[in-house]
Amino acid sequence: MVDAPQGTDLVIAGGRVIDPRNGYDARADVAVSGGRIAAVGPDLAAGAAEIVDARGMLVVPGLVDLHTHIYHKATAYGVDPDPVARRSGVVTMVDAGSAGYGNFDGLRDFVMARSAFRTLAYVNISYPGIFAFDRGFSFGEASVGDLMSVDHCVAAVEKHRDVVVGVKVRLGYATSGEIGLLALDRAIEAAERTGLPIMTHIGKPPPTYGEILARLRPGDVLTHCFRPAPNAPVDEGGAVLPALREARRRGVLFDIGHGMGAFGFKSAEAAVADGFAPDIISSDVHTLSVDGPAYDLLHTMSKLVNCGVALEDAIAMATDRPARATGRDTLGHLSPGVPADITLLEEVHRPFTFTDVEGQRKEGTFLFAARGSFVGGAFRDPLPRAFETEG
Ligand SMILES: [Zn+2]
Repeated sequence: MVDAPQGTDLVIAGGRVIDPRNGYDARADVAVSGGRIAAVGPDLAAGAAEIVDARGMLVVPGLVDLHTHIYHKATAYGVDPDPVARRSGVVTMVDAGSAGYGNFDGLRDFVMARSAFRTLAYVNISYPGIFAFDRGFSFGEASVGDLMSVDHCVAAVEKHRDVVVGVKVRLGYATSGEIGLLALDRAIEAAERTGLPIMTHIGKPPPTYGEILARLRPGDVLTHCFRPAPNAPVDEGGAVLPALREARRRGVLFDIGHGMGAFGFKSAEAAVADGFAPDIISSDVHTLSVDGPAYDLLHTMSKLVNCGVALEDAIAMATDRPARATGRDTLGHLSPGVPADITLLEEVHRPFTFTDVEGQRKEGTFLFAARGSFVGGAFRDPLPRAFETEG
């Protein structure tokens, strides 16, 4: 038996450790020291101050939800990040453009600074961010050219660079009206000037899926990638559009961003069956999706597994891949020395009826369950997932 490294505070023992970045998948222990990963391997528990029994669990890097809306109380659709993170095993929540360059200070001071979890954000290219999205009410922040100042967006990114991961734009008839490609060009210009990627939403045309992809650069993220028609990722016969494959070859990243209107089983099953799984799974959690149909990242991961994505791939799509998209080298893996962000999951094999954004139902056989997480080595206990106990 190998002794735990000197001064080990905590060992998470006996789980199946899946660390996609390091190509690691084995029954093993994870040793934590000073809030950082000390070692991953067999038999590290001797001498540890505290041992967590993880037998029967999956032990994975702290989940990263790349598309959330957490500017709660300042925006009608923002959710408090902490209860959602606790129930879903998420450690890092990335806000996807709820705040623009005109009100980013508030997101930072009133939400991000107060969360017990890690938070990062995209800055919206539009001054107020997504300021008018509610039940039965919507006004597109990217439909008014005067609201989108590249200079001011660049200044906000530079001021908040330690928490900013990129620039967000929402393209689609309801969000950018007739000026979608102008909004996209502004977002890309701000991203070019700050050396960051963009994340773009795709809605109903204009613009079309192909028009958006043609402008995206390596590392840029297209969210809502498996939305239903119109602007679905597949043609009427279920074949993936050539524009998607061409964009992926260039390094464009495809993200789920489930939300209330942007994930259809028909699109997802056809794309996966045609060899085009997403790069990243995210929830697009907000007040209109947190009680269904998206619920949260973990539920969305379960859906993708039931659509044909392998369990190990679903974990990579919610750890290593989104972490890379944020540009944060210490997130999304369990290499020695990085902060000990760890999620404990369980595999639940039983029948469950899933629902997509169009109300289509799908009989599934598998759910992930959250059993807690560690943020820099500090435990966060899980909240119950009542919405998954029936069905
Ligand atoms: Zn969103």
